[in-house]
Amino acid sequence: SLSEKLQNIFKNLRGKGRLSEADVKAALKEVKLALLEADVNFKVVKQFIKSVEERAIGQDVMSSLTPGQMVIKIVNEEMVSLMGSETTEIALKPGSEITVIMMAGLQGAGKTTTTAKLAGKFKAKGRKPLLVACDVYRPAAIEQLTINGNKQGVEVFSMGTNQKPVDIAKAAIAHAKNNDFNTVILDTAGRLHVDEDMMNELIDIKANVSVDQTILVVDSMTGQDAVNVASSFNEKVGIDGVILTKLDGDTRGGAALSIKAVTGKPILYVGMGEKLSDLEQFYPDRMASRILGMGDVLTLIEKAEAQLDADKAKAMEEKLKKAEFDFNDFLEYMGQIKNMGGISSIMSMMPGLSGQMKNVSIDDDEAEKNMRRTESIIYSMTKAERSNPDILNPSRKNRIARGAGVDIADVNRLVKQFEQMKKMMKQMPGMMKGAKKGRFKL
Ligand code: GDP
Ligand code: MG
Repeated sequence: SLSEKLQNIFKNLRGKGRLSEADVKAALKEVKLALLEADVNFKVVKQFIKSVEERAIGQDVMSSLTPGQMVIKIVNEEMVSLMGSETTEIALKPGSEITVIMMAGLQGAGKTTTTAKLAGKFKAKGRKPLLVACDVYRPAAIEQLTINGNKQGVEVFSMGTNQKPVDIAKAAIAHAKNNDFNTVILDTAGRLHVDEDMMNELIDIKANVSVDQTILVVDSMTGQDAVNVASSFNEKVGIDGVILTKLDGDTRGGAALSIKAVTGKPILYVGMGEKLSDLEQFYPDRMASRILGMGDVLTLIEKAEAQLDADKAKAMEEKLKKAEFDFNDFLEYMGQIKNMGGISSIMSMMPGLSGQMKNVSIDDDEAEKNMRRTESIIYSMTKAERSNPDILNPSRKNRIARGAGVDIADVNRLVKQFEQMKKMMKQMPGMMKGAKKGRFKL
């Protein structure tokens, strides 16, 4: 496996300073193969490897990782960010305003199935979906949509096979307006290959009815081809997002990386089976793990990250004991709180506090706002002021308040809180216990 290969390359080279060019090149050679094996488009692979290489050379190696693992950590992060970092929702208009969604894609990609799956999702959100049979070439397609729509308890609008798709779409939208549907999904006809008739049909619909979202359905099993399909559709018709189907098979899902990289359009959902409930939100981090196919290495990296934070927490605790705690530590400490999932989750990690605080509810959003303000105050301090808060006289506080765009009272409050916290922490040596157990992830 890839991780074994990497371990062999970097045997005995654990945690040694910075990543050298040779370290990075050796590890990336394996990553490159993994990506190509996962069917990531070779141009995308080339560009990706180049940018990771630039970023990785010279970076510090975390003490518990080998250089090879460190490179994978960076690769993983870059992949997640390339795929959009967070999940993207399909934009829907509020209230009774109608959102029109047009499904596009090759024959067999999974449009009709996915149309019914989406209808279920929308219905569960309280929307009123109407499914529209615009595939007029195969009577079976209309029947398939009707059956699946009925299974979801959603109305299907159809006009047989003798009308043009654009006219069916127009009639369906009128029907939706008159009957209080607010989400119209057009199931269109695909072809076996990208061809002009198919594209023109979609262009025609887009030109004549106001389509809000064009969603491309792509079969992940088609691998490299998926990218060409996606860029053709994006160039000719214009797409807003992609749904990748058939990820329940053994495909490594390289198409997800390629499609996002080539079209710049987000993956919205993934199809995980033939059942109508088998549609899942797209998670870039899960997809990155799948494409890299290195579950064990990634688990190891996660542990190393938890260890890193535990080490930091330990150092902090030492400082606290010696009362060396200053505003620099305070900043870092706040960073750790964020990593641990907010104040309330920290409270629950502290054995002494969790009992006392049982009935106190903490608003994490409010706490985060306060933390941001606190951060901006500390950032407005000079280095000397941060490491020696005792020198904060009124004129310094005034300057800091102006710099941070807050009231001098806010600065005073922070300094006071800081002193209190210092006192409190000295009395609470178990403060960082939660961190040591590694109960959080970065
Ligand atoms: P269309 O021609 O694009 O409308 O594709 P269909 O919706 O008719 O789907 C083609 C075939 O793929 C059907 O047999 C579906 O059951 C199957 N299919 C669709 N999505 C998925 C999926 O996510 N996983 C699996 N295993 N099969 C799927
Ligand atoms: Mg179909």
